[in-house]
Amino acid sequence: MAEQSFDLVVLGSGPGGYVAAIRAAQLGMKAAVIERDQLGGICLNLGCIPTKALLRSAEIAHLLNHLGDYGFSAKEVSFDLKKVVDRSRKVAAQLSAGVKFLLKKNKVAVIEGQGRLAGPGKLAVEKDGATTTVTAKHIILATGARARALPGLEPDGKLIWTYREAMLPDRMPKSLLVVGSGAIGIEFASFYRNLGAEVTVVEVLDRILPVEDAEISDFARKAFEKQGIKIITSATVKALKKAADSVTATIEAGGKSTDQTFDRVVLAIGIVGNVENIGLEGTKVKVEKTHVVIDKWCATGEPGVYAIGDLVGPPWLAHKASHEGVLCVEHIAGVKGVHPLDVSRIPGCTYCMPQVASVGLSEAAAKAAGHEVKVGRFPYIGNGKAIALGEPQGLVKTVFDAKTGELLGAHMIGAEVTELIQGYTIAKTLESTEAELMETIFPHPTLSETMHESVLDAYGRAIHF
Ligand SMILES: Cc1cc2nc3c(=O)[nH]c(=O)nc-3n(C[C@H](O)[C@H](O)[C@H](O)COP(=O)(O)OP(=O)(O)OC[C@H]3O[C@@H](n4cnc5c(N)ncnc54)[C@H](O)[C@@H]3O)c2cc1C
Repeated sequence: MAEQSFDLVVLGSGPGGYVAAIRAAQLGMKAAVIERDQLGGICLNLGCIPTKALLRSAEIAHLLNHLGDYGFSAKEVSFDLKKVVDRSRKVAAQLSAGVKFLLKKNKVAVIEGQGRLAGPGKLAVEKDGATTTVTAKHIILATGARARALPGLEPDGKLIWTYREAMLPDRMPKSLLVVGSGAIGIEFASFYRNLGAEVTVVEVLDRILPVEDAEISDFARKAFEKQGIKIITSATVKALKKAADSVTATIEAGGKSTDQTFDRVVLAIGIVGNVENIGLEGTKVKVEKTHVVIDKWCATGEPGVYAIGDLVGPPWLAHKASHEGVLCVEHIAGVKGVHPLDVSRIPGCTYCMPQVASVGLSEAAAKAAGHEVKVGRFPYIGNGKAIALGEPQGLVKTVFDAKTGELLGAHMIGAEVTELIQGYTIAKTLESTEAELMETIFPHPTLSETMHESVLDAYGRAIHF
């Protein structure tokens, strides 16, 4: 095939890559993406989207188990795991097809195959034994990341799963060990528990969801334990011993070691960047702790080569990858007024039950950064809509700089907080203080009123609690 040349080529079509390519095309560049697998990356095919489809089924299972609370009764409620999984695959396929359509609409070329850097301004793409060369003025690496494995804790795809297998179960495990209590681990714990599995979560740190504010972690732990999830913190899984259809885990906690047997194990112990086999050798691209090092405009050490998304490190979130893609391309195109990424404005969400969402500094991080803080709290039990929905479990915590009134952080747990957090994210983008937030009129009755009340509480003015 003849050599193809572009203004900008992105390696990888996840939410970092495809968004960067579309933005480049919008800005008049001749753009292409190289993809070895499915368009949309992990996010659309094996991450954000299919897990949310599974968790929707879990939510429905939860509601069906509480039909009586809403005045209904049913003789027998059952589910077919295959249909639950099939639905999530259909949702993923629909969205991947949507990315294909969007790329075509924006005249972004899609080059199928395994790509790697092959000299300045060049990429080699291998497919079915043939290699083609693609040239580009600008190259963005967006190859994403994968699940971390540790010695003794290696997935086998059958009994010991990563998120890939956990998303495609062929049968319901009766008992499940989830190793790691970050967002991915907790979402699978929530899914399997709601569908009836006995779930144990082991976390090496002293609390679950360790990136969240400590009060939210505590609240979440109590809520999950009430649902029957067993949580062991400050604990390490030392070894996993496989039998024909079960795994025995050696769990060390508080100086004691115990062996416990589970049907299946999900490893959710972190993420490593896909830095291998992409031609970094012999370039000035620097890699630290499995991630590519970039500057504030996503430039690597190699002229003309940029990197974005999971490949460049935490937070490993789709919207962070997309945002980096856009800012990187706009900077390349010389668009005026482009801002580097501000991590304090990246919201993070966990779609367990109850949901968890946050943006900005936790109370502890704000204090550690030298802020004198004012903290507001408002429980869902004080909110009319939460009670009407039958979802009175939740907490909204806000952290302000006591001197300036700047909103430093917001931390939420409860129904629909993953939708609500965006209110605080916009407030942070607008550099809002307590004054604007208190002045804002919130519709009644909505869950969003908890956000208002939390701000009011920070200043001793909460009305409904
Ligand atoms: C179970 C799970 C749930 C998640 N839930 C959420 C969530 O709710 N919200 C959220 O924000 N984030 C979530 N994430 C994280 C999210 O999926 C990632 O942050 C996001 O996909 C990163 O986007 P990316 O573009 O950097 O990389 P990816 O989405 O990983 O895409 C990289 C692409 O590059 C391709 N590629 C790699 N190497 C090559 C090569 N050499 N040649 C050609 N192609 C290549 C890959 O095939 C892939 O398609 C979740 C992740 C998992 C695993």
